[in-house]
Amino acid sequence: MIARRVPIAVRLLVFSAAAIESAYIWAAGGLHEHGVATLLLSAEGQNVQVEVTLPAESVVGFETEYATTEQRETVEQARTALLVPSHLFVLHGNTCALTDATVDVGSILGASQSASEEPHQKDHEHEDLESALDDHKHSIHDEDAESAPNSHSDISVSYRFECESDEAITRVAFGTDQLPFGLERIDVLWVADWGQGAAQALPETPQVTLQN
Ligand SMILES: [Zn+2]
Repeated sequence: MIARRVPIAVRLLVFSAAAIESAYIWAAGGLHEHGVATLLLSAEGQNVQVEVTLPAESVVGFETEYATTEQRETVEQARTALLVPSHLFVLHGNTCALTDATVDVGSILGASQSASEEPHQKDHEHEDLESALDDHKHSIHDEDAESAPNSHSDISVSYRFECESDEAITRVAFGTDQLPFGLERIDVLWVADWGQGAAQALPETPQVTLQN
């Protein structure tokens, strides 16, 4: 067992080295795959943080800087919707109140509105990871990445919750008969005082039981 006092970020690194393939890829920087989102849940005591990364293409239908007023409205609507976590998932096993939500729509809103974004750096990591995993089936953007390095964008969402107790989150539910935004898969990784693991949610099973 890893000592409780080890910071969560360190535990995540330790965990990622031994985790299943998809969790490893996520923790190492994430591969961009249309239709596939990742969710990391980390918990310490009563504090739970959930970070979700979604391909912009899957959420708003495009992933370049918006070009039309309509596209801009689509992005704003998506951002507003994503500020409400229940539009993506519901936590079970504990009662948790949202204390903070941040939506980063990245490069699809343009450089002037996302000054902190570093798409070039991100793409380099992306390519490094892909070359390190060049036989990996999920490396679907090799040619795209080389010819147009900034052609892919992710939307990142971060939520903080304060829960009634430090009891385990037992389940993350995404919907009744489908995943949000018509996603094909959500890779879920959790690291907490009460356990850690990884699993996948699919349209036919749009939830993950956090079995440790
Ligand atoms: Zn893309």
